[in-house]
Amino acid sequence: MAAFNKSSVLVLKRLPEMNTLEKIIKTLKNHARVEIIDHVVEKDIEFPLYGIVIGSEDRSAPTLALSGGVHGLERIGSEVVISYLSTISQSLEWDETLYERLKTSRLVFMPIVNPVGMFLMRRSNGNHVDLMRNSPVVAEGDPPFLLGGQRISRKLPWYTGSVTKAEDMETEAKALHRFYHREVLSARISLSVDVHSGFGTIDQLWFPYAKSKRPPPHIAEIHALKNLFDRTYSNHFYKLEPQAYSTHGDLWDYLYDESLNQTNSGLYIPWTLELGSWLWIRKNPRQLFSSLGPFNPLKPHRLQRILRRHLTLFDFLHRALISPSAWTNLDSAHRKQHTSEAMDIWYAA
Ligand SMILES: [Zn+2]
Repeated sequence: MAAFNKSSVLVLKRLPEMNTLEKIIKTLKNHARVEIIDHVVEKDIEFPLYGIVIGSEDRSAPTLALSGGVHGLERIGSEVVISYLSTISQSLEWDETLYERLKTSRLVFMPIVNPVGMFLMRRSNGNHVDLMRNSPVVAEGDPPFLLGGQRISRKLPWYTGSVTKAEDMETEAKALHRFYHREVLSARISLSVDVHSGFGTIDQLWFPYAKSKRPPPHIAEIHALKNLFDRTYSNHFYKLEPQAYSTHGDLWDYLYDESLNQTNSGLYIPWTLELGSWLWIRKNPRQLFSSLGPFNPLKPHRLQRILRRHLTLFDFLHRALISPSAWTNLDSAHRKQHTSEAMDIWYAA
């Protein structure tokens, strides 16, 4: 089997994000613990699945986890995560306040979850499986036909694979699951953000569930965190809400439910950031005719804007994890109030 480097010209051309990531990993030096969680192979090329942990060695410390590139066409997701990793790497060279913060907290990264999909320029992985439909979670009710995940054929989109238990998941999904289980679910409090694109005109932050229309058990904390974000950044442009449509096999539902069922587990809330790419298309309709166009900003100035647009959100979440009492220490009256407001804005029929 050819080593990853042997085909580097082709990989550089079709997966430049991997090269950027490896350069940043070098600059991180002893600030980070970097591992290759697993490999995936396509056309005799071995692609590493990188996992990166920065900060405290204590796995129970507050943890923010970021991932991208689960869907190979939505490469802007990887780019946003890599861009934040680069900012952190550079800041660690001089910013003592960040250095201090990371003594008692952790940042976890899996920036390129589906390198083969990105390399082949398609949504699914090398086996045509949609990794965000590939966990053993079965949706309640009736998810939308095909879009909700289908087992009919790998030739159709949104193919779940024939997964009934954790071991059946694809290599990439298993790697993400293993890595998050060890490095994120171990924390007494943690949040994750998985960056996607291609749905809607605004940037949306989705919280569980994807499998059902029910509110998750932490709906009060989610609403309190939303309030804190609204208060702290009154001009933020995100729309926070439950996932817009229901699906089978959501990896984040799977991890979330696992954290709920784990004894002594901390508070874990996974978020999916859906970048509103339809806006980029409206401004540049010719994008529709490129395979990556519907999912990625193609104009350089727009790309730059998207890459810096989310740094504030990630910083906010990191700080909210280190000082969580404003959204987690809820007495019963506050819990009731947050739950009732959440039900009104998100679950009223
Ligand atoms: Zn996606």
